[in-house]
Amino acid sequence: MTSLQTPPPENREQLPELNSKEPEHCPGPQSEQAGSADACQTCDNKDICTSLPKGPDPDIPLISQRLGSIKHKILVLSGKGGVGKSTFTSMLCWALASDEDLEIGAMDLDICGPSLPKMLGAATNESVHASNSGWTPVYVSDNLGMMSIQFMLPSEDSAIIWRGSKKSGLIKQFLKDVDWGELDYLVIDTPPGTTDEHLSVTTYMKEVGIDGALVVTTPQEVALLDVRKEIDFCKKAGIKVLGLVENMSGFVCPGCGNESRIFKPTTGGGEQLAKDLNIKFLGSVPLDPRIGRVCDSGECFFDLYPESPASDAILEVVESLRDEIEGQL
Ligand code: SF4
Repeated sequence: MTSLQTPPPENREQLPELNSKEPEHCPGPQSEQAGSADACQTCDNKDICTSLPKGPDPDIPLISQRLGSIKHKILVLSGKGGVGKSTFTSMLCWALASDEDLEIGAMDLDICGPSLPKMLGAATNESVHASNSGWTPVYVSDNLGMMSIQFMLPSEDSAIIWRGSKKSGLIKQFLKDVDWGELDYLVIDTPPGTTDEHLSVTTYMKEVGIDGALVVTTPQEVALLDVRKEIDFCKKAGIKVLGLVENMSGFVCPGCGNESRIFKPTTGGGEQLAKDLNIKFLGSVPLDPRIGRVCDSGECFFDLYPESPASDAILEVVESLRDEIEGQL
């Protein structure tokens, strides 16, 4: 199991000493279901977990207090991997941070595949500093700070092989201990699908509230099928869907600038799905191969290629998203 480098703040939560590793569907030794869930019935830790204190998580008020100085909190979701969710998250962060009057935070909750640090241009040897006020975010520009497990790994190539309760513990730590200060937007990048990470973040943030979720898809039916599940998850978790973005909806030739369809939608694509589900369609973003290159170099795409149709499309989506969020006020 990978060990993290960053020394924990003093108030770091201690997980209980268990007899053995938690099984796959463990609800978490500190959850209300600990000891009584189906997975607990054959688990060696059942007696320990049954005896642990139950009831509302005492850290939730601390999380609410910590995140109380953040105006807007957005989850970025996708039904499946490979649709460009983290790429879009990085561009959303750059777009928001291009307004110098805004303070932006990016939280990378893709614990097993953290890619935001590279996409946002954080140094590979960057580490997290802990002080009495908590963990200090890593700043990639004057008004854009970020936090990711990547900053705590001994090397860029270290794998995280953690079960649900351990991931949940780290997410709680991120929410409770990162000292963001006053932020206008906190953008939270999550892994694909509906995972332990999603359940944890929505549970821990239920008191302080999430403005909503932005869902990223591609036009193919195979991606749209999973997006329907993601939207159902939001409904069940009580999270407003702020809108749907269709990524890779066309291909921009970097030579001539012409746009062509590469993934032809068979059922109307993201726009039709948004209509069917009565959610806002925020727009379509074409694939420009230079997006991949700037993500590798950690630069801002629309600063470098303002003439690309993809730049216009991204900025329009972000404007539409801000209208949706700030219009709620
Ligand atoms: S909550 Fe405890 S008893 Fe239940 S599965 Fe997890 S480790 Fe085992």
